Amino acid sequence: AAKSRQCGSLIYHAQLDAGSQESLSLLTELRHAVEDNELRLFLQPKIDLQKGHVVGAEALVRWQHPTRGLVPPMQFIPFAEQTGFIRMLSAWVLSGAARFAREAADAGLALRLSVNLSTRDLMDQDLPAKIEAMLTPLQVAPASLCLEITESAIMDDPERALSTLEHLHAMGFKLSIDDFGTGYSSLAYLKRLPVDELKIDKSFVMAMERDLDDARIVRSTIELAHNLGLSVVAEGLETVKAWAMLAHLGCDEGQGYYIGKPMPQEQFIAWAKSWQPP
Ligand code: C2E
Ligand code: CA
Ligand code: CA
Ligand code: CA
Repeated sequence: AAKSRQCGSLIYHAQLDAGSQESLSLLTELRHAVEDNELRLFLQPKIDLQKGHVVGAEALVRWQHPTRGLVPPMQFIPFAEQTGFIRMLSAWVLSGAARFAREAADAGLALRLSVNLSTRDLMDQDLPAKIEAMLTPLQVAPASLCLEITESAIMDDPERALSTLEHLHAMGFKLSIDDFGTGYSSLAYLKRLPVDELKIDKSFVMAMERDLDDARIVRSTIELAHNLGLSVVAEGLETVKAWAMLAHLGCDEGQGYYIGKPMPQEQFIAWAKSWQPP
């Protein structure tokens, strides 16, 4: 306990120096988190905005820490990315999401599970093979997983990312550009990337009811996606008015607190079965 308290503050703010003692103990703690089963898979629903039904969920990790409680991802994901631990975490989330897709299918719900990947994952040439090995025994079709990647993760090393993404796409995984509009947007790369979906960043969606510029950005992104043959998802859907605006603009899917907050995976199937569109 003394040890975890000692590095507690680091999770909350410090920029960790990779070699420091504190950083080593946080890394040790994270390894234990996996071994001791402290990570939790939360799921947030994705809805078809035209038809109103549940089409999938985004897998979002939380750390159920023995003394700190439920730690949000932004307090350990950046550190995990910095140290390379993210690969172990991504594998954990991917296999959890795949198992959940299987469980939902067995319960009569065809859901697509979205999983976030980081730059480090894209740089791992063995990733496609690892994912395939994980999915085969579960009999989960690659198309029931969607891999979300941010523009900045791709632009770190675009050629290498492109090669991994092409490989994953050829295997049948759906690919989505996350936080679209906030990274170093490169339309030239967007054109070359084998993506299926654009996910409009929540900052635009949350502001569009009061700011005309945000509303225009949302509208243009929906048009851009459709013109490129991609489907488009709005995240940060917080009000019934936002739903109406997005549906009117032709946005395909929505995700946000108005529909449902991320919930423990154990609650999702019951939630989805009782969901009624407004
Ligand atoms: P993200 O991928 O952009 O995920 C969406 C975040 O927006 C989630 O925060 C979600 O709870 C939040 N959100 C969804 N709807 C609304 C809404 O209507 N209003 C508001 N204000 N927020 C909403 P969360 O779960 O805290 O995750 C934060 C970030 O942590 C994620 O952003 C993602 O970048 C990262 N993350 C979470 N889980 C994983 C993971 O398993 N792997 C990786 N690499 N990153 C993860
Ligand atoms: Ca995401
Ligand atoms: Ca996002
Ligand atoms: Ca984000």
